[in-house]
Amino acid sequence: MLLSQIELRRIRLPLVTPFRSSQGFITERELLLVRLIGPEVEGWGECVALSSPEYTGETVDSAHNALKRELIPLLPADSVSPWQVSALLGEVVGNSMAKAALEMGLWDAELRSREVSLAQHLGATRSRVPAGVAVGVMDAIDDLLAAVESYVDQGYSRVKLKIQPGWDVEPVRAVRDRFDGLPLQVDANMAYKKSDFALLAELDEFGLLMLEQPLAANDLAGHAELARQIQTPICLDESLSSAEAAEEAVELGACSIVNIKPGRLGGLAEALRLHDFCLERSIPAWCGGMLESGIGRAANLALAALPGFTLAGDLSASNRYFYRDLTPPFELRDGHIDVPTGPGIGVEPLPEMLDEATVSTELIEL
Ligand code: MG
Repeated sequence: MLLSQIELRRIRLPLVTPFRSSQGFITERELLLVRLIGPEVEGWGECVALSSPEYTGETVDSAHNALKRELIPLLPADSVSPWQVSALLGEVVGNSMAKAALEMGLWDAELRSREVSLAQHLGATRSRVPAGVAVGVMDAIDDLLAAVESYVDQGYSRVKLKIQPGWDVEPVRAVRDRFDGLPLQVDANMAYKKSDFALLAELDEFGLLMLEQPLAANDLAGHAELARQIQTPICLDESLSSAEAAEEAVELGACSIVNIKPGRLGGLAEALRLHDFCLERSIPAWCGGMLESGIGRAANLALAALPGFTLAGDLSASNRYFYRDLTPPFELRDGHIDVPTGPGIGVEPLPEMLDEATVSTELIEL
């Protein structure tokens, strides 16, 4: 596949529900899109890095810089193959989200030119996937109950509550009391310490599907110790920076459920490797979300249609996040979202939305 230019496009999309971050409330999703342009092909990739380094160390700015200065210059001048790219980019340490964005764009361009959908290419076995929704920390329990009720009414098949010290047992109890039988899980995004184990054990009574990433990313031993002390299964997210890291975490007993996010893992090839490991070992897995636009969501839906994704992912309809998505919106139908069937990732940005949301573009000649 011949490419001539790569465009790095900075986007801002207003969020329907602002989310609480270490920088205060975020009201817009800042995004970096990678557009690959060749004489006969075009492809889109989305970088899932956030504006500030609170999930991993990567940010929109750092990913932009890594793509421009380190990753794009590694692409061969004559012909670029998405099969080789993950090994090629492996020369650069870290920068997983930047690598994943470039890899997604290459797959989109390649598969578009061959008229094959990403879902088909990856080996998807489903035409639609169950939609889960993540609900952030709120100011009051009544607000939380109202939000959960609205998502349940819309048909979401499982709900994930974000928790943090001061917002954990009581809000979870309130939701469990109101929505008996609702598939429910919690995500702590590394907010707890060893001294909180007794408190985390109090969550056992709510029959949660899982407790996601309670401790620091590098604390596999701590997660293994906690797993021995509580009944709620532990799922890891931030800790799993590669398929190998995930295998180690499982071997150590640090988690019994795996969150698969291509952005965190460095791309679809690594996500597929981790999926295959989970499938072979019968480890429950699900696809995480990073407030993606329709571009990134399309790729996640294709991935989540693989047989190893046995639990509902953080795959919500476009209107959960944005007033208007960059692509035609993904909609909830009977608690599910359809997997795109068109060539490549199966969606393209709407030109007028792209114009409206673009902050800047930078064109790099290859
Ligand atoms: Mg998480």
